Amino acid sequence: MKAIVRVGLSWTGYYRPQGPKLQHELDQDMRLVRDILHKAGFETLFSPTQPFYNLEVEKGDARLNRLIEELQVRPDLASPHITVERQYALQELEAASLLILYITNQSIKDDHYAMYPKRDRRGVGLPYRECSACRAPLEQVRDLFLNPHHMGKKDVSLTYAFDVILSERMASMLHEQSVSGFDLRPVQNYGAQGAGTPQLYQLQITSKLPPMLAPPTEFDLIHQCPICGSRSHFLKRTHQWEKIQYYEDTDVYYPETVTEVVQDFNHTAEWFGELPVMKPMNIISQRLFRLLRDAGIKHWKAVPVQLV
Ligand SMILES: [Zn+2]
Repeated sequence: MKAIVRVGLSWTGYYRPQGPKLQHELDQDMRLVRDILHKAGFETLFSPTQPFYNLEVEKGDARLNRLIEELQVRPDLASPHITVERQYALQELEAASLLILYITNQSIKDDHYAMYPKRDRRGVGLPYRECSACRAPLEQVRDLFLNPHHMGKKDVSLTYAFDVILSERMASMLHEQSVSGFDLRPVQNYGAQGAGTPQLYQLQITSKLPPMLAPPTEFDLIHQCPICGSRSHFLKRTHQWEKIQYYEDTDVYYPETVTEVVQDFNHTAEWFGELPVMKPMNIISQRLFRLLRDAGIKHWKAVPVQLV
């Protein structure tokens, strides 16, 4: 696994509550940024006409450690949103028994009557029974009404509310390969009719895993609604290098014994995200990872699950 750190540096300044810098502050901070870049080994990047620097460094690189050390005296010179992107080698993905499935495209608008409830003259109602206090989706009570043309030629997409929608091709592939752990719910067409209108399906994962091992799995935040009791998590993403905050996804852990109960598709016992759009995570088998890859399905990525 490679962890790529993206960190910005500037002397003109990111937002600060006391307002823009005065000229003597700008002069001083330009010299400081020059010195910091120099001490960290990025001196060739410096130019007195360039106030912003976007650096990409691998975690563990000595230059990054020096940069962070130098920035501790003036953390405001660093960008407020430093991110670490984990990149997995193919061998690492192929060695994982279980992987988190992330759908990387969200091109389908939500259910028509959920987006425009006031236009609902047919009395169709909402697709989910919701908690009246937190609006958490408690139970799906009807098919989704979606415009299938938003899908284009894609095989998989999220709706804005994070429902997973599949093309007919992908649905057939899953059945032909006897993939386990899911049902398909037909999607009702809204705003498109006639020959050539694609049939879409909503993925409904039926296999539920036992709770994650936590710790070592860590969460940043847990929301809980006092009315309906819904609990939703955020996987830990905020970290500190002393005074400098950065964002990096952390691992999900299960006990080895989880492999005795997994199917190809599984959802986690935990739910994630803000309460009104909370969803479980989707966990797939190594077999399904290879099927998706070999079928040329696009718009997804997988991250290994840690078994201990
Ligand atoms: Zn609630």
